[in-house]
Amino acid sequence: MVQIHRMNKAIKLHDKYFTHYIGSDKIQQATRSLVQQVYNDLGDEEIPIFIGILNGSFMFAADFIREYPANCEISFVKLASYEGANSSGKVNELVGLTEDLTDKTVVILEDIIDTGNTLAKIYDIFETLPIKQLKLATLFFKPDVFKKALHIDYIGLSIPDKFIVGYGLDYDGLGRNLKDIYQIKSKNMKNIVLFGPPGAGKGTQATLLKDHYNLVHISTGDVFRYNIKNKTDLGMLAKSFMDVGDLVPDEVTINMLKEEVQKNLEAVGIIFDGYPRTISQAKALDECLLAKGEQIKAMIALEAPEDELVNRILERGKTSGRSDDQNENKIRNRFNEYHTKTAILKDYYEAQGKYFGVNGLGGIDDITDRLKEVFDKL
Ligand code: AMP
Repeated sequence: MVQIHRMNKAIKLHDKYFTHYIGSDKIQQATRSLVQQVYNDLGDEEIPIFIGILNGSFMFAADFIREYPANCEISFVKLASYEGANSSGKVNELVGLTEDLTDKTVVILEDIIDTGNTLAKIYDIFETLPIKQLKLATLFFKPDVFKKALHIDYIGLSIPDKFIVGYGLDYDGLGRNLKDIYQIKSKNMKNIVLFGPPGAGKGTQATLLKDHYNLVHISTGDVFRYNIKNKTDLGMLAKSFMDVGDLVPDEVTINMLKEEVQKNLEAVGIIFDGYPRTISQAKALDECLLAKGEQIKAMIALEAPEDELVNRILERGKTSGRSDDQNENKIRNRFNEYHTKTAILKDYYEAQGKYFGVNGLGGIDDITDRLKEVFDKL
């Protein structure tokens, strides 16, 4: 089942992906504020006729008039344009306007105004009608692309020039039913797998890269430790495996990872640290990202000899508070897990032309520079 109303979930309409942008609470708040402003200007005496411009404004118009505290009328029109018989080109016409608007206060309700082209056409048409006064309220406004010297009386929310859908607005017919507003995903994420055996410095480097490139860092080890600390069901499940340096079962890890990815789909990119550790995990990650129109751009591996790493981990164990860092048998078991289940992932990504090995020995900054060099080329 497609869960199109869940926040943070990227939604797919035709060929494009959209991410959550403005929640219905904020929309309702903006609508109430517009209603208040219009009512303040018109008062109880004036009985306005609100005219929604179809199709986009139907939800906004419905919510707007539901809030309007005085008598009013409501009607809807559609702007149709067709080739005229003469040389003047396109002719614009309002379809559906059956009311007599003579001497009436007309308030146009628009869902969104961007370039102002539609607005100009609407103004042209209403100027020819014998109405008392014309006002215009728009829920969304894009100041960066508005090119006309036309007056807009009431603006709900000013937004940057991003293509949006939801709450009546569509992408080629779809998306009007969404309660919230979603924005188009124009840039793809720069997702990387930071790879290497235990103790290679993945966590340290991930933190530095994250800060430098404004990425999100997902460390499955950290997520497990957080859950153990907070005694969640997931934590209790993972603890017995982690305590001895075994991998947590794929099913558990994969579900948890998917939830973490789901929360971060608006990020510039994600650094996966400690995931994937098995081929099944790598495949699940690929599937999960593909469903969002994303992918792993590269696996960047920190390469270092095992003996050096065991010493590093024992050293870290003195301060990390991690029991699996303090016992050489547990550490060796982690390496065993790495060699038997995880190391093969190099082949998995290499086959896709995505593997980049980096020398993991030396100063922290030097290693970061090596990683950045690879990342910058992605
Ligand atoms: P780390 O902090 O990455 O060294 O992970 C510590 C421990 O968490 C590992 O030894 C595993 O028990 C567990 N763990 C972390 N990530 C994974 C994963 N992707 N798959 C299975 N177990 C994991």
